[in-house]
Amino acid sequence: MEMSVIAYIPPGSGYAALPLGRYLPPCLLGVFLRWLKENIPQDSWLIDPLGADPFTAIEAAKAGYRILVARSNPLIRFVLEVIASAPKENDFRSALNVLMRTKISGETLIKHLQQLYETRCSGCNQLVQVNGFIWEKGHDQPHRRIYNCPQCGQKGDFPLSQFDLDLLARMEAQKNKTHARAKQRIALGLEGGGFGLDEALGCYPDRSLYFLMTFINKLEGLSLPPEQKRLLQALLLSIMDIGNNLWHWPEKPSRPLILTTPTEFIEQNLWLALQEASRLWTILNSPVIVTRWPELPPQTGGICLYQRSKTDVQELITQARPQAMLANFPRPNQAFLTFTVLWSGWLWGVQAVQHLHTALENRRYDWRWLAGSLQLSLKPVDAWLPVNAPVFGIVSEPTPSNLFGTLTAARRSSLQLKGLAFRPAEHMFQLEWVHQSEKSAMNEIIKTDFYRPAIERAIYQKGEPINYEEVMYICRIAHALDEELPQNLLELDEDLLDKQLIQIKNVLQDSNFLITYKNPHVPQGNQWWPTKPINFEIPLSNRVENSILDLLQKNKAISVNQLDQVICSTYSGLCIPSLELIRICLESYAEPLADQKELWHIRMEDETINRAEEISKTVNTLKFLAVKLGYRVEGENPLTWQDKEGKVIQKFFIIGNGIFSPLFNQAEKDLILKSILIFPASRSRLILYKLRNNAFWQSQIDLGWRLLKMRHLRKIAQQVEITSALWEVQLNADPLLWDPPVQLQIL
Ligand SMILES: [Zn+2]
Repeated sequence: MEMSVIAYIPPGSGYAALPLGRYLPPCLLGVFLRWLKENIPQDSWLIDPLGADPFTAIEAAKAGYRILVARSNPLIRFVLEVIASAPKENDFRSALNVLMRTKISGETLIKHLQQLYETRCSGCNQLVQVNGFIWEKGHDQPHRRIYNCPQCGQKGDFPLSQFDLDLLARMEAQKNKTHARAKQRIALGLEGGGFGLDEALGCYPDRSLYFLMTFINKLEGLSLPPEQKRLLQALLLSIMDIGNNLWHWPEKPSRPLILTTPTEFIEQNLWLALQEASRLWTILNSPVIVTRWPELPPQTGGICLYQRSKTDVQELITQARPQAMLANFPRPNQAFLTFTVLWSGWLWGVQAVQHLHTALENRRYDWRWLAGSLQLSLKPVDAWLPVNAPVFGIVSEPTPSNLFGTLTAARRSSLQLKGLAFRPAEHMFQLEWVHQSEKSAMNEIIKTDFYRPAIERAIYQKGEPINYEEVMYICRIAHALDEELPQNLLELDEDLLDKQLIQIKNVLQDSNFLITYKNPHVPQGNQWWPTKPINFEIPLSNRVENSILDLLQKNKAISVNQLDQVICSTYSGLCIPSLELIRICLESYAEPLADQKELWHIRMEDETINRAEEISKTVNTLKFLAVKLGYRVEGENPLTWQDKEGKVIQKFFIIGNGIFSPLFNQAEKDLILKSILIFPASRSRLILYKLRNNAFWQSQIDLGWRLLKMRHLRKIAQQVEITSALWEVQLNADPLLWDPPVQLQIL
């Protein structure tokens, strides 16, 4: 696998907050856009054949591109169309007012729905709206209520009162009717199998379900302009998700993949949620044009939704031939697919569900299902994309098996992997392919033993031990690019990855090849390093440190974001350094400008000339101490103390940077216990970071090296009375500690 270098685009501006966002692949602001701007002329057609999120297309269209988007999931398409129409807060408000003025059992809908979430404040006995009810999994009623009383100021969570229990009893009495209604619209669309319908309904507390069904009944019974109806459906979709029990208590961000109720969850106040729900739908200031194939958006940019089965190849090639493809790859998500059936039925009725039936028969949403379903989406593109057209994809929250599924699907669709970049801390792969003609893709020679060379190459490139996660990705990538693939990826052997895992483990356990190190500081706790010395690239963390120092020396001031961008475009593959390492290097060498805190400049003492002076001062201090202790000095750096018989007492290695690993080869084996590494105190955190992430280096230090900060050495030298015994004690008095990051460090 020879791949070219592709730059990693760091997601500097965060994520787009979207309706249903917790089920969709994360939408990183600006990442696709930056790739497009650097690679594709603005008047080009693009294609998003997965349509796995609404935002990728909207962002591209806003920037002036025209993009074909597959109509895949009806909910995602709906979100895309509503957001693109750029509705305003007021539009939602007035549509909601019309609905809320309707009558139910002699009262207004607004009053009826509000009452569902009233409780009596235990402080002042007034009626207040609860924020929510807390449940324990498996119980048939909540055990706490949360409110914030506007009358007396009492707030927090409290046990349920009789008032709350009476309300629950009224809900219980409605239960059968509500459930029947909730099922009606869906079950009629599904002949026979209920595939998870009861399971999905089981995710709803009675009150939430009653609220939703009442809302739906009223919406159905009202004759509204289509535009207003659509906005109310949008709000309804938001609260369909807020109303289920997949919300942890205490609150924490979660991205559900399966329908599993948290041990403790919060039943949210849907009345209050309804007031807030428009926020995520009103993220555009001006509309983006969305058409349906064969109608095309204007040349100034827009989105054209197409249906895979109903798009004619010839017509597409002449009308809107895409010059590049974007893909925000999703994870297999059973929760979202099940809710897609449920919510589509609730929103649009039986017909919408019938359409989904076949897509959802499979209940095993694994890597193989992912490969098969991606293949279906990517297949038509093979005929539409010109040869050599570029493809840019993101796999967020990857797993080695899902990455395998994604890569095989791309390969089966004549996409040749050009390169990839992975940043573990951001849980993101960025990948580039080029579209090849079908023929050349099939002529590849299939190899069998690809794990060992792949691991070897990865260690060579990193120059440091590799972690389990890295091993798994490297091996799955190598396998995906070399495996002989069936025409239909659903025919891939179900046990293929398990069988290959055994082979991977065999390679890792081959003690002639690799040594295993335990390392509690890395995920999964193990690292691997070659048994026999081989040639490596300069260790990654040292390379990054040098790059950053170099940038600081060349630039008067630089922000963390700028630095991150430059570093990310300098490194590649699995060697994208973490933002943590970048920050630690920066804090080690630089400080913020006094008047512009977001900009950093090199610290005065780290200017090359000052650092050299500091080293020579350290040499002098060591000489001075030697005289006091009655030793002879030899050399400067390394510098040794010797007694009268010429026996080495200590050997000092002085560094001004944080690069200590080359010294391991310089130090004589029998002198390691006497070797001392002296470094500026401002490198402490950097050195510790490196040791924590490199079990091989830590093992070398553990042979007996001692670490000494220049600052501490000066302190020792200032003591009036110093003896060799005291020296020994003092040496260990200022250990490396994993301090929290600091803005300013004193040398
Ligand atoms: Zn009160």
